[in-house]
Amino acid sequence: MSAEERGQAERRDLERAAETGIHRLAVPTPFMVGRVNAYLIEDDPLTLVDSGPNSAKALDELEQLLAARGHRIEDLGLLVISHQHMDHFGLAAILARRSGAEVAALAPLAPYLAAYSRETELDDAFAEGIMLRHGIPPEVVTALRAVSAGFRAWGSAVEVTAPLTDGGELTLRDRRLRVLHRPGHSPSDTVLLDEERSMMLAADHLIAHISSNPLLARPLGTEPDVSGPRPQALLTYMHSMEQTRAMDVELVLPGQGRPITNHRELIDERFRMHRRRAEKIRGLIEQEPLTAHEIAQRLWGNVAVTQAYLTLSEVLGHADLLLAEGRAEEAEQDGVVRFAAAGGG
Ligand SMILES: [Zn+2]
Repeated sequence: MSAEERGQAERRDLERAAETGIHRLAVPTPFMVGRVNAYLIEDDPLTLVDSGPNSAKALDELEQLLAARGHRIEDLGLLVISHQHMDHFGLAAILARRSGAEVAALAPLAPYLAAYSRETELDDAFAEGIMLRHGIPPEVVTALRAVSAGFRAWGSAVEVTAPLTDGGELTLRDRRLRVLHRPGHSPSDTVLLDEERSMMLAADHLIAHISSNPLLARPLGTEPDVSGPRPQALLTYMHSMEQTRAMDVELVLPGQGRPITNHRELIDERFRMHRRRAEKIRGLIEQEPLTAHEIAQRLWGNVAVTQAYLTLSEVLGHADLLLAEGRAEEAEQDGVVRFAAAGGG
């Protein structure tokens, strides 16, 4: 498809969503991802799914985007938070305060959002433990701590007043949205399915132009202890994608970029990509046992410090795939884990 055809398809798909009262509001972020998509649902109550990061620029643009549709922030009656990443919920506290809107999020995410600052500190402690355990040099870990602390201001604690349950329903005047927990990209990813209109608000669960990184994150409500079995973010994510793949959905509205009309094709492509990457890693550890950090360096060279945790998560996710198949094994020595090939071919 040419860029022009893609642009036409994007306009057509957004038009289709707009006809049902759902409008994409692309809000700026200071992060590499660029803009994130909030979705305004013109229904009763007036609903906003995600909000963008906690910044004056995001707030200003969001306010203008709402005004262009004839709404004020004060008119919002319901805010829905799709997951725990600050670029998606950072403005929620300000919007809730100004509008008095209810705040809905998955119930297990509520304590995290209420104690955001403390919870992200625990996340950082967990990430540090994982990095040291998988061969990232201590000086890089220290540098990343400073980076992460600097990012924290883009989020803001918010109180959830309408907790959601997996499989439950969010009922507005003109529609019913099925709430589905689809963890993997983060532990709290929540998608909203409009069965009647065959549409899904998917946030970062599924994105057309990039593979959604299954970041290795501390499970909600746990201590940052990395000595036990680690969460298997990629396997969790692949399971979530299989569940979405099994559904008939004509239009997926993601948290970044353009709408998706071929979710099965896209998910199959993601599965093939993860398979290829796992095989590449298997090839490397056939030669010698390696830490996850060494594997990342062989695959991508010396990446920027800020990317170290991302690439580590990638490697560990695919190592988990091989471990689950019995084609790799891991051994710990002096607190550092190395992966080696196991089984046949
Ligand atoms: Zn995210």
